Amino acid sequence: MDIARIAVHDSVAAACPPAGVAESLRGLDRSVEVVGDDASFDAGDCVVTFSPREAFLDAAWVHGVRAGYDAFDVSAYEAAGTALTNSTGIHGDTVPETVVGYLTAVARRLHVYRDRQRQREWRQEPYDAAFTLSGERVCVVGLGTIGRGVAERADALGMEVVGVRRSGDPVDGVERVYAPDDLRAAAADARFVVLCCPLTEETEGLVDAALLDAMRADAYLVNVARGPVVGEDALLAALDDGEIAGAALDAHWEEPLPPDHPLWDRESVLITPHVAAATNRYHEDVAALVRENVERISRGDPLQNRVA
Ligand code: NAD
Repeated sequence: MDIARIAVHDSVAAACPPAGVAESLRGLDRSVEVVGDDASFDAGDCVVTFSPREAFLDAAWVHGVRAGYDAFDVSAYEAAGTALTNSTGIHGDTVPETVVGYLTAVARRLHVYRDRQRQREWRQEPYDAAFTLSGERVCVVGLGTIGRGVAERADALGMEVVGVRRSGDPVDGVERVYAPDDLRAAAADARFVVLCCPLTEETEGLVDAALLDAMRADAYLVNVARGPVVGEDALLAALDDGEIAGAALDAHWEEPLPPDHPLWDRESVLITPHVAAATNRYHEDVAALVRENVERISRGDPLQNRVA
């Protein structure tokens, strides 16, 4: 593979300015340009993109600017001989910091007071509504870049951290690691269950009625993974029936979440519009991954973060 041109597709705008990514790649001895859907590609091209397009299969290599690559047809890339890489590895601070924000808001009731501030309402929550994160148990599902970042921070806050990992091998800061088959046991005693796994055939609908039923009535579900990892109807029913106390959701079943969705009106649910990974340096972080792989290609080394 020999890359002559890096084409930054304008769909990247969903994550950060495409021109910022292009600018951050200028130092490379390659032609760099921002392209739209009218562009065509050949074996000398790398395409940096947020969304897949059929035309990208003509390029040598496609880099997705997100960690999740569930939107891409991996087998089509394999069949076309087009390399596909993702952006795993750059969300180890952003998403975990957002998760700490959700946990702290819920424990210290900040989301409730922010709502009341809008009404200029000076009203305190009942004495026993607030709690401390210290001493509470968090169950982190998926111990990759994001999950480890969550575990590390939760540990530093004095939380008891358990996790779910396919290999079941121990992880620093995680007191007990469960296998995916033991998810229910892992989640049962947790005050927070934080989803940090990719959306795959295995994880679609992972959080179903049985899991929500097994969770504590005062537990919160946090989803920074992908919407379909959670059963939508199951979550709505669990909230209605008081099987769990609330949720913090950054990833949704349909994005944008429709304005008439019943979750918008729930005080116990924090909704963010898929921004857990947002940062003013996103363009540089993506460019650093692309640059590293361009250099690897020059050296004849295998691509980092290759998924097809
Ligand atoms: P990663 O690849 O570093 O980690 C994912 C981990 O999940 C891996 O260790 C993998 O082995 C594990 N895993 C896979 N299936 C599992 C299962 N059934 N049970 C338990 N663990 C399982 O990826 P990451 O950067 O940590 O990102 C994880 C996911 O988070 C992404 O795939 C993406 O969907 C989502 N994400 C969301 C945002 C956001 O803005 N909300 C940002 C980045 C990533």
